[in-house]
Amino acid sequence: MIYLCAISNIRSGVCKEDCKFCTQSVKWGVDIKRYKQKEINEIVKEAKLAKKNKAAGFCLVTSGKDLDDNTLECVCVATKAILKEVDISIIACNGLASKEALKELKKTGVKIYNHNLETSENYYLQICTTHTWQERYVTCENVKSVGLKLCCGGIFGMGESIEDRNSLIKSLKELKPQGVPVNFFIENPRLPLKATWDRKMAIDVIKQIKKEINPQILMLAGGREKVFGNDWIDGLKAGANSIVIGDYLTTKGEKPDKDLEILIKNGYRIANAC
Ligand code: SF4
Repeated sequence: MIYLCAISNIRSGVCKEDCKFCTQSVKWGVDIKRYKQKEINEIVKEAKLAKKNKAAGFCLVTSGKDLDDNTLECVCVATKAILKEVDISIIACNGLASKEALKELKKTGVKIYNHNLETSENYYLQICTTHTWQERYVTCENVKSVGLKLCCGGIFGMGESIEDRNSLIKSLKELKPQGVPVNFFIENPRLPLKATWDRKMAIDVIKQIKKEINPQILMLAGGREKVFGNDWIDGLKAGANSIVIGDYLTTKGEKPDKDLEILIKNGYRIANAC
């Protein structure tokens, strides 16, 4: 069974944090669309399209450090508007979050919170200086403590060592997330990192997560097309059971029709809920 997830970037490119992998930080000046809030009608339209494309989950992402009051309000309004019209699991991805804010999301109908550890505790110091890995870990604990499902993974191929990868996977294992998104770093000339993945490493990472964590959902997320090209089904054969369909936060994805065709041709069934 394969789980499909679509993403909506409802606040784009306005973040003051300095994560070196992220095109949405204002610090790096990457040429992307920047806006404070996507129109609610537009978000609902995207959710309907995601449902039509067989997505089980629809993820509302906001660029920014945390789930502050303003962001909370914006995500709650969007969630209510979607759930009035579309039967789909809502995932929220809004940065560091307190238990109180997460409880509000849950009350509004959000099912899952996505917050990635990104990399190992040690290597995170090289990746971001404006907030800490420990703050991220605490947010993940908060998610679980309020009874939301946790989706938590990382980005591979940012120059980390094998020890860093093992350490990240060990930390993820401690958190026992229901979903683990696996991203591979996508280079941009304005970002200060070079991609260090290769296909073999990508397959090994998926196999290792499947073996050591075995989450309910192991998602092949950002970088799928870059790493695997048209052969991304190999990522599923290695143990992943979920993909992101449609566009990513600031980069174009494959056409959903094409992804669905490949999945069906390879005999996969599509889950209608997560
Ligand atoms: S906090 Fe989130 S949106 Fe901001 S730079 Fe880091 S990854 Fe990007």
